[in-house]
Amino acid sequence: MSSTDESSLFLTAIKFAAVKHRDQRRKDAKATPYINHPIEVADTLWQIGKVHDMVTIVGALLHDTLEDTDTTPEEIQNLFGAEVLAVVSEVTDDKRLPKQQRKLKQIEHAPHISTRAKQLKLADKICNVYDIAHSPPKNWSLKRRQEYLDWSEQVVAGLRGVNPILDAHYDATLSDARAALARSISV
Ligand code: NDP
Ligand code: ZN
Repeated sequence: MSSTDESSLFLTAIKFAAVKHRDQRRKDAKATPYINHPIEVADTLWQIGKVHDMVTIVGALLHDTLEDTDTTPEEIQNLFGAEVLAVVSEVTDDKRLPKQQRKLKQIEHAPHISTRAKQLKLADKICNVYDIAHSPPKNWSLKRRQEYLDWSEQVVAGLRGVNPILDAHYDATLSDARAALARSISV
C-alpha cells in the first residue's frame, strides 16, 4: 500500500470511529468524548510500541466500534477489508455473555489471538490502566479499581512476548497506577 493510500485509510477510519462514537462518553468524571480513547490506543501502538502496520493502527481506531456501537462486521469488511475486520473481531467481547464470563474469556483467549490483536489489546489495557489511575470511572470504589488492575494483569499475561517495549510500558503503567491507588489510601 502506498503512503497516500495508508493516509487515506487512516483518515477514513478516524472519521468512521468519530461518527460511530459521536454520542458516547468515557466513564470518567469529565465524561471525556469516547473517540479520545481509540485515538490514544492507536497513538500508543505507533509512538511507544513502534507498531507501524496500518492494519493494526486502523484496527486500534475501530477497536470498540463492533462492541459498543451499531457497526456491523459487513461495514468494516467493505470499508477496511478482511484483515482489519479480523483484528477488530478478535478484540471484541461477546456482549450476549454475562460480564463475569466475558472477563474470564478475555483471560482464556489472550494467548491464542493473533500478533496484531495481542499488541492492540495490550495497548488498550495500557490506556485503561492509566485511566484507572488518572481519570477513573466516576463512583468506582478503590477496591473495584484495584480489582480492575489485577484482572488486566491476568489478561496481559497471555499477551506478552510479541512486543517487549509494550510489555515494559504496561509494567511501568501498572506499577504507577498501583502507587497512585496506594497514595489515595494514605491521604
Ligand atoms: P467494566 O468493563 O464495566 O468497565 C471497565 C471498562 O470500561 C474498561 O475496560 C474500558 O473498556 C471502559 N472505560 C470507559 N471509561 C473508562 C475509564 N475512565 N477508565 C477505565 N476504563 C474505562 O468493568 P467491570 O465492571 O467489569 O469492573 C472491573 C473489575 O472490577 C472486575 O475485575 C470486576 O470483577 C470488578 N468489580 C468490582 C465491583 C465492586 O464493587 N467491587 C463491582 C463490579 C465489578 P474499553 O476500552 O473497552 O472501553
Ligand atoms: Zn478500548
